[in-house]
Amino acid sequence: MEIFDKIKEGLPPDADISDTSFEGSEIVVYTKSKDFYTQNGMAVRKLVDELKKRIEIRPDLSITMEIEAATAKIKEIVPEDAKIRDIYFEPELGKVIIEAEKPGLVIGKGGETLRTIKSTIFWSPQVERAPILKSDIVSSVRKTLHSETKYRKDFLNKVGMRIHAPKKPGEQWIRLSALGGYREVGRSCGLIQTPESNILIDCGADVSSNQYPYFNAPEFDISKLDAVVLSHAHLDHSGMVPFLYEQGFKGPLYTTAPTRDLMVMLCLDYIDVCQREGRFVPYTSKGVKEAVKHCITLDYGEVSDITPDVRLTLQNAGHLLGSALVHLHIGDGLYNILYTGDLRYEKSRVFEQASTDFARVETLIIESTYGGSGDVLPSRMDAEKSLLTKVDKVMQRGGKVLIPSFAVERAQELMIILQENKFDKPIYLDGMLWDAAAVYTVYPEFMSREIQRKTFHEGENPFLSPIFKRIASQKEREEVMNSKEPCVVIATSGMLIGGPAVEYLKAFAEDPKNGLLFVGYQGAGTLGNRIQKGWRELPVQTENGKTTTLKINMEVDTVEGLSGHSDRAKLINFIYKLHSRPERIVLCHLDPSKANDFAKTLHKMFKCDAIAPRVLDVIRLK
Ligand SMILES: [Zn+2]
Ligand SMILES: [Zn+2]
Repeated sequence: MEIFDKIKEGLPPDADISDTSFEGSEIVVYTKSKDFYTQNGMAVRKLVDELKKRIEIRPDLSITMEIEAATAKIKEIVPEDAKIRDIYFEPELGKVIIEAEKPGLVIGKGGETLRTIKSTIFWSPQVERAPILKSDIVSSVRKTLHSETKYRKDFLNKVGMRIHAPKKPGEQWIRLSALGGYREVGRSCGLIQTPESNILIDCGADVSSNQYPYFNAPEFDISKLDAVVLSHAHLDHSGMVPFLYEQGFKGPLYTTAPTRDLMVMLCLDYIDVCQREGRFVPYTSKGVKEAVKHCITLDYGEVSDITPDVRLTLQNAGHLLGSALVHLHIGDGLYNILYTGDLRYEKSRVFEQASTDFARVETLIIESTYGGSGDVLPSRMDAEKSLLTKVDKVMQRGGKVLIPSFAVERAQELMIILQENKFDKPIYLDGMLWDAAAVYTVYPEFMSREIQRKTFHEGENPFLSPIFKRIASQKEREEVMNSKEPCVVIATSGMLIGGPAVEYLKAFAEDPKNGLLFVGYQGAGTLGNRIQKGWRELPVQTENGKTTTLKINMEVDTVEGLSGHSDRAKLINFIYKLHSRPERIVLCHLDPSKANDFAKTLHKMFKCDAIAPRVLDVIRLK
């Protein structure tokens, strides 16, 4: 490739280059010169400026220190306080990965320690944060990536070749096909097409009705798909990503690292739940593993070419760990699309509010879950106050509070609200909540400045507070059920459709001292919905399959405003605060009854085209 020749020409003759290859949009140069490997700053910076590409210099295997000796050296150089958990080598890439509880201490002030490692062992060191709570999810994802190094080197090189392919001449146009999640909530999926590119944004499943995106739409052809971009891990956005890979898709999946890990957790659970309930499962765990193998993670604000004419940036969406607004810059300066995924434009305990920092946005595709004229959510402050008062009331009378919750988003928010308000009774976490919290401890960089400050400067990660107790067995569960101590139990599922929450409900329901607190939406027809609507005698299944009546004597209450979404006023405020005024607004992720009114309002307010397409509609954006 021409670009490789330019690099060889641009580097000094004593650089002793042994190989050049792509790693996605980046270029990696392997050198046999120890001097050039450790001191190449000026030469490389000049090339980067000239070529506008990221270039990384890595050691050729011939100059790296022997693995055992290198491991010993690393342990010698890195201070013990860093608590190194694991060191592993990827010879194909000239890399050594150091997994530590305190990555900052492996890096050192201004990168000093890392530079010492580099110039001592001549491997390219990379640091990863070890999960402080044991996380099977994070370790299995890392294991998969590590064991597939050879495959990934080849795969990333192919991705790079595709990105750097010469551009096609001729007219430019951009189309959006609504494959799912338009005038509905669930199975979110949009296809962006240009003469050069086919990019899928989100690929969700509607898990309650087993509905999937329209893969049979004439626009969609899996063999022509270049890339998938995933906004966040909720199944209505990620649930069918593994399906694509099980069907043989071998292109890249762009998302943040925490979204990748949470997606694995939620998709594996989805397979599990379907199998248990005897429902059709669209893919197996193989599809999930394949998705991980093809994942290219980006940090917030990192800009990456993903096809010859599309450049991607992900920014904080404030919705859950790793959730991102997806910005696509198409053709050099031609057009910009911002897709919000799910968004919260208000600071919470765990996240900053969604970013509005985009230099240009011509089409805004915005989730409008709470875009209805009657959709007013209380402020975060009021919601917190209401939660604390309601929990406290039950504690005062010596009862227990059950909070049914989804595994991610709401549960972690609740944990931090209680922890920050110095709640002093035990908080039991049951179901997938604990695994999710463990993933949260790995990625403080993706959370609020407050949590980062606590984690990095005060060395205390709020998720590790001793008030949180994990329930991992039936025996522990029964102990909590039988104990007389006041406590809070947060358990899945969020709408009481199975999961440990239902078991706690059965145990707590008859005692009027106890409380049941809903903090999230209760879908029509669910047990949670019935209780919320006032049903107090409910048919439930016993262990041996018989039906009995469950009497609800416990106090039932709801706390509004802890949602990971924004209400109508905040959505409008988000658009208003965007640094660039869009010329078109496309609504998605909303109930059809809200669509016309919200589109009309936005049209009037922002004097732009505002539409709410149906699923299978195709819109020409440019
Ligand atoms: Zn979501
Ligand atoms: Zn969603």
